[in-house]
Parts: sequence; C-alpha cells; structure tokens
Amino acid sequence: MTTGTVPDPLPDWLTSAERVTVLTGAGISTDSGIPDYRGPNGVWTRDPDAEKLVTLSYYVADPDIRRRAWLMRRDLQVGEVRPNAGHRALVELERQGRLRGLLTQNIDGLHQAAGSSPALVLELHGTVHEVECLSCRDRTTMADALARVDAGEADPACRRCGGILKSATISFGQVLDAEVIEAAAVAATDCDVFLAVGTSLTVHPAAGLTDLAAGAGARVVVVNAEPTPYDALADLVVREPIGTALPRLVAR
Ligand SMILES: [Zn+2]
Repeated sequence: MTTGTVPDPLPDWLTSAERVTVLTGAGISTDSGIPDYRGPNGVWTRDPDAEKLVTLSYYVADPDIRRRAWLMRRDLQVGEVRPNAGHRALVELERQGRLRGLLTQNIDGLHQAAGSSPALVLELHGTVHEVECLSCRDRTTMADALARVDAGEADPACRRCGGILKSATISFGQVLDAEVIEAAAVAATDCDVFLAVGTSLTVHPAAGLTDLAAGAGARVVVVNAEPTPYDALADLVVREPIGTALPRLVAR
C-alpha cells in the first residue's frame, strides 16, 4: 500500500485498467461550494435541528418541518453550482472507454452536469433535482415544486393524489432503492479498479461496495483527505486535493 501523493509514473495496473468503477462522496463536491453536511463544519453539526428536516418521521408528522424543508431546498438552489475538475476527470475516464460505473453518494447531480452519461451514474442517495410523492411515488421536477413554493404554497401536495411531496433523496429512516443498490453491487464486483473518491467509507452502502470490489479481486484506490477504514486494504491511498489528484490518476 502506498499512501500520500499520486505516484509518478502511475502503476501499470492503473493505467492498463479497462473497467474502473468509481464511488464518489461529498468530498468531490466541496470544491463546487456544496457543504459536507456531516463533516466537522457541516450544516448538521452546527445546527442539530436541521437534521429533522431530512428525517422521514419528522417530515411526515409535522407540516412545519415540511414548510421549513421547502425553504431549505429553495435556498440550496440559489447561487451557481458548477461541476469542478474532479467531476470533469471522471468524464475523461468515460471518454477513454474505461468507466464501468459511477456510483455516487451525492444528491447534487453534478456528475451528469459535468457530462457523465446518466446511464452510468447510480445515485445511491437519490437526487435533489426531482421530488417524489410519498403515497403514489409520482415523480416531478424540483423546479416545478419550488415554483409552487414561490407562488405561495408552503407545502405543495401531490397533484395526482394529494399526498406529501419530498425531494427524491434518501432521508434518514428511509430505505435505499433496492434496484440502484443491486446495480451498484454488480458494478463494484465487475471491475479491475475500484476508485473511492471523497468518501469516508464509513456508512452503508459505501463500505459494503468497497468490500465487494476487493473481494472480487479489484485493486482499490482511495482518494480522501482523511483516513478511511479501507486504507489498509487499498493498493493506493492519495491524500492530495481531489481536483488536482483525479485528473492525474485517470491519465494514460
Ligand atoms: Zn401522489
């Protein structure tokens, strides 16, 4: 195991890898100005009450929590959020024909915004760009729901059935999408290199996916500012900033 900077030259097993499965977490989006909610300076760490806005039981039970959640979603749309060099490096990996799958814990849609094929991106925790009815599962756009909030609806209801609408993200207390998790497991099992970027690899399903990849014989690369529980089994651990490390790691 090598820890530290991107090796120069890169190891042959990395440059010759034909099927790379990538797992990304909050760390790849912080350069785009999106806060890491659970980090030391995260929103939830500074304001524990904010966690109620993304906890299913509170959300369903309390109209005031829903009203505040819609305001939070509206605030999150303000300001230009653009993909960064880390996202673009993964588009380059796809252009090389080597991207087996792009699994992300992020809900910001920045991989698709950067140009990654939607068919290759698996959003483990859902997306903030859509809303879903908790009763009939009808999906509409976040933009449409926020337009209703702006027009005066504090808590817009499902137009089809009147049910409660929520961003199409996985809240605390909500189960992950089984089809997405299954597809992610297949991509983790079916790769030469498993590249984990900007994730602490401590929560489900990120940790389990790394186990699957390693168990299936993939080389494991970890790019993260902080140590992870998987550093010891990784073939390469990089602590450099993602925006400069990733473009070099995917170079051929
Ligand atoms: Zn509905």
